[in-house]
Amino acid sequence: MKVYKFGGASIKDAKAIKNVAKILVADEPNQILIVVSAMGKTTNALEKLAQHYFEQKNDCSPLLEAIKTYHYTIIEALFEDKNHAVYNEVNNFFVEIEWVLEDEPQDEFNFIYDQLVAMGELIASCIVSNYLNLSGILNQWADARAYLQTNNNYRSANINWPVTEALIVKTLPTILKNKLVVTQGFIGNTSENFTTTLGREGSDYTAAIFGNCLNADSVTIWKDVPGVLNADPKLFKRTVKFETLSYGEAIEMAYYGATVIHPKTLKPLQNKNIPLFVKPFMASHESGTKICETQKAIKTPIIIVKNNQVLISISTKNVSFINHNHLKNIFVAFADVNLQINTMQVSALTFSACFDFEEHQFNTLSKILNNEFNLRYNTNLQLITVRHYTPAVLKKLSQNKEIILEQLSRSTAQLVLKYKIKE
Ligand code: ASP
Ligand code: MG
Repeated sequence: MKVYKFGGASIKDAKAIKNVAKILVADEPNQILIVVSAMGKTTNALEKLAQHYFEQKNDCSPLLEAIKTYHYTIIEALFEDKNHAVYNEVNNFFVEIEWVLEDEPQDEFNFIYDQLVAMGELIASCIVSNYLNLSGILNQWADARAYLQTNNNYRSANINWPVTEALIVKTLPTILKNKLVVTQGFIGNTSENFTTTLGREGSDYTAAIFGNCLNADSVTIWKDVPGVLNADPKLFKRTVKFETLSYGEAIEMAYYGATVIHPKTLKPLQNKNIPLFVKPFMASHESGTKICETQKAIKTPIIIVKNNQVLISISTKNVSFINHNHLKNIFVAFADVNLQINTMQVSALTFSACFDFEEHQFNTLSKILNNEFNLRYNTNLQLITVRHYTPAVLKKLSQNKEIILEQLSRSTAQLVLKYKIKE
């Protein structure tokens, strides 16, 4: 069997959903589990709705109305028969949202967020499943929450693998013998039956979980790019597509911030040696990129850009050397605020770390570190990571920019840059 994952862009309007049906037909669908994300930018819209509801300052109805209009426009374009069951089914999901919004918030934000934001995937999968059935592609809608068991770490829930695997294996293979299955990415369920989410862009990870538990022959992520490229085509004019890539290289890319694949996606597939294909949904016959176990050496430099970085320089209050005890306290502070360091450097008198800037988290960290250290920091920085770098590439990337930290290892270079410096 195979797992296909269709992200937000690949189901953003009626035309895109029709294209999904075309891809499946061209493939002579057989034993495919389809994982879908929320349509277009719905997750962002639902996030905003959750925030408004939690703050209770503004009326939530305009936001909800816009989400409804967006989905009903798509449904009306796909289902001529206004008595089709999809109208009722989608309406039921919206009623669930309205029920939440009616009362004042009683729970913590992350819990509320998951209950509301998960609706994007539920609605999307309902529409896609109904449309495929209407087009003769026989499938069964499955609620991913009946399979993916998680802890109650809302907004970033962890999978309970043994329970999840047992639930998946118990029913899905039998269903897949007769028809396709359409389910949701990104969402799971606690043992108390509350909805959780796996973190933004988590649908790829869902596809990998199903792939792993079902021992899939392959997992394919359908994207709006030709495959995995050596740089973001939105930032660089000339890019190179990889025909094949090793799991290890793809994991490195995801770790350093390449957005093409969710970082958690690769491990469950690598563990079972299941290839991951990244393919363009607008040209489904193209080969895309195959990620698998391969020894093929990469010669093309891979460039990963992260903006909105902060570089913090930490030094002792009495200008003493940075020793192991200082380092211990610094790392404990980072761990306590759940902050991932993107690159770091230690010298005699300072420890420097570069990470994604998020104001609230940054302020909490500063408060803790201020007790023991002097802090200096720069915001609005850019971090460029280059795998398999050459001096020429580094020179070109840092042209007209001030390098404020540089870290080179054998295969990876990292530059922290001040961009848009005044002439
Ligand atoms: N819809 C979710 C998001 O936008 C999950 C996903 O697309 O993978 O983050
Ligand atoms: Mg998405």
